[in-house]
Amino acid sequence: MPINPMNSLTSITGRTGQELAWQESALCAQTGPEFFFPAPGSSTREAKQLCGACTGRRECLEYALDNDERFGVWGGLSEKERERLRRAGTATRTAEVA
Ligand code: SF4
Repeated sequence: MPINPMNSLTSITGRTGQELAWQESALCAQTGPEFFFPAPGSSTREAKQLCGACTGRRECLEYALDNDERFGVWGGLSEKERERLRRAGTATRTAEVA
């Protein structure tokens, strides 16, 4: 039986399917994980370009920050960029995504 990732994430995060609806149109789902989880020192440029065209970018970044995702590109930002954003606070977070 196929696993519905939306159900799994909902049970893990406690978020509703509606709050995770951005994942249904996630452009990264149409590519391989190597773009979004590159080897250390590899470019994240392609992933960030795709994120720039993704309608769920804001929600994706919020999800990554709220769930302390440490690896990969989420919402157009790398691990280091999300860490800087986390340290700068939520006011800056909104400005970066806009
Ligand atoms: S913003 Fe980027 S990482 Fe997030 S769902 Fe869209 S394509 Fe995937």
